[in-house]
Amino acid sequence: MTASVAATAAPPRRRALRPARGAQRQLLDELRHAAHRGQLRLAYQPIHSLRGTDTPGFEALLRWNHPRFGEVAPERFIPLAEHSGLILEIGDWVLRSAAAECKRLRACSGRAVRVGVNVSPLQLGSRATMQLWLHYLQDLGLPADALTVEITEQVMLRHPEAVAGQLRLLADAGVRIALDDFGVGYSNLAMLGQLPVHALKLDRSLTQGLVASERHRTIAGSIVGMAHRLRMQVVAEGVEQTTQAAITHELGCDFGQGWWYGRPLSAAQARQWLHAA
Ligand code: C2E
Ligand code: MG
Ligand code: MG
Repeated sequence: MTASVAATAAPPRRRALRPARGAQRQLLDELRHAAHRGQLRLAYQPIHSLRGTDTPGFEALLRWNHPRFGEVAPERFIPLAEHSGLILEIGDWVLRSAAAECKRLRACSGRAVRVGVNVSPLQLGSRATMQLWLHYLQDLGLPADALTVEITEQVMLRHPEAVAGQLRLLADAGVRIALDDFGVGYSNLAMLGQLPVHALKLDRSLTQGLVASERHRTIAGSIVGMAHRLRMQVVAEGVEQTTQAAITHELGCDFGQGWWYGRPLSAAQARQWLHAA
């Protein structure tokens, strides 16, 4: 398709974009129905305590299995859901499902398991939504600190005052806030003074540079030192190898997450992982 369009194209850019936009629109139409057609599910990736004493946890990661397109990567459909506003509905489903699974994981393991949920900036638009989330936890009989809300610094690009207010409401109730993909992007450090942040998640690219680069180790070590002085915990993301696991441990990270500890699991596998851990 693209070869023949490119060969005859004038003007090429508009012609090349049209099918791509059509495909995006079709994907969005399909996504609108995905939840009630049972195509969405959550995978649970273990977050391993490096101190041995902290509560184990999982990050809930959204998966979309489409009957024709197969597994669609979150990087493809989450931006679509965000731009269209559909993330409000999907995010609500994610939060309720993850909280319900957290309850089951606690019941079957007898441990104070925590679940982290990724939250898009749009979801932090209203106090009413925050109150609804707290109600979901209450209805399940879960303490608020069973939930970690993972945000990226993107949240501060939209109405920083309002967002900080919503996060404070959650944090005051006991919900934990983690800053995801930390150490890349703009990493606006002043933001750490404005937001109630309990944990920093070291971006995968930083973790993966630790073995080869002394500079990466210095940066990561400084982040851990700063976080601890601010009474925040540090989760190393994207740990794939033994050496990376050893270095993150030496640097004082509190938790490790990555294929070395465990791939994203089905809910049933997550229960087994807890029994074995
Ligand atoms: P994230 O929140 O930073 O999640 C971590 C991503 O890294 C996940 O990709 C996970 O599968 C992947 N990962 C974990 N360990 C390793 C490793 O050792 N090596 C490598 N190469 N990758 C690893 P995934 O599941 O494709 O999710 C991508 C992003 O999509 C997430 O990044 C998050 O930003 C977003 N996302 C996923 N689920 C949701 C959701 O329910 N809501 C929202 N708003 N965003 C979501
Ligand atoms: Mg995350
Ligand atoms: Mg991340």
